[in-house]
Amino acid sequence: MNGMLRLLRRAFALVASVILAACGSAAGGADTVVPPPLSQRGMVRGDAALIVTLLGTGDPTPRIDRFGPSTLVEAGDKALLFDIGRGAMQRLYQIGHSSAKLDAIFLTHLHSDHVVGLVDLWLTGWVIDRRKSPLRIYGPPGTAEMVKHLGAAFTFDIDIRTSEARLDPQGVRLEVVEMEDGFVWSEGDVTVRAFLVDHSPVEPAFGFRVDRDTHAVALSGDTRYSEALIRHARGVDLLLHEVAEASEERKAERPLLPRLAHHTQAADAGRVFTAVRPKLAVFTHLVLVDGFDPAGLIPLARSTWDGPLVVGEDLMTFRIGAEVAIEKR
Ligand SMILES: [Zn+2]
Repeated sequence: MNGMLRLLRRAFALVASVILAACGSAAGGADTVVPPPLSQRGMVRGDAALIVTLLGTGDPTPRIDRFGPSTLVEAGDKALLFDIGRGAMQRLYQIGHSSAKLDAIFLTHLHSDHVVGLVDLWLTGWVIDRRKSPLRIYGPPGTAEMVKHLGAAFTFDIDIRTSEARLDPQGVRLEVVEMEDGFVWSEGDVTVRAFLVDHSPVEPAFGFRVDRDTHAVALSGDTRYSEALIRHARGVDLLLHEVAEASEERKAERPLLPRLAHHTQAADAGRVFTAVRPKLAVFTHLVLVDGFDPAGLIPLARSTWDGPLVVGEDLMTFRIGAEVAIEKR
């Protein structure tokens, strides 16, 4: 599909955009406004310091409405991807953001639901988006080993597309940097910091903070209630937090289901929000045991957090400037 068609599709997707000023309950006081003018594909629009788009808000369940965990952060001329869950490539395509225009990919941990979209983004991005430079991946120890085997697994395709289709061999290279606690990535005026969170027995597992100008977003990664997250997230505009919920009966079971024990329940996430006091808190990576209704998340979190809070949806976008605005692409 050519660039013009993509822009047209993006324009259609934005026609019904709703921007909510991020004050009080996001469900109340919504103002419908004309969305800002579109600029170039893949570029940050308007004057937001950071634009954060939830590409996938689901868990390992192959739902069609919530793809696997993945978040795009656009910061000035930089585009950063955090995790590559199932469907991340489709979501990038859907919003008209070329997968060839990613400056770095950060992996919170190597649970399959966070990386299963890598093959698609890596190879389809090379074939369709004509990526001509290596894909740069920052992940936990073990990432280089995983990537090495991917290269071996797809030798047939890589060889034939390099020789017959004459695709740029640089574009199919994967460059990996394995991170430790405190890892810092910095280019221009954008800084990303990685910090350890508690997703035991998955170790290490990272959360991230992205800073640009005086604005910042924190991503919890997969974690239980985390004091480290609270420390690193202080002062952020936007805090994206994972959440796992189930019925009261399920939560009373011992031993607790791993899907609950290894994650954060809504009331505990609320304690994190209260300690950090972001301008807006967002639930993403929804682990919904036995079909728990996401509408039940906010009432549970309200026992510990009385500030702005929304339940994330795929393609929900947050524009961070003087205020945090919500746009549904
Ligand atoms: Zn996990």
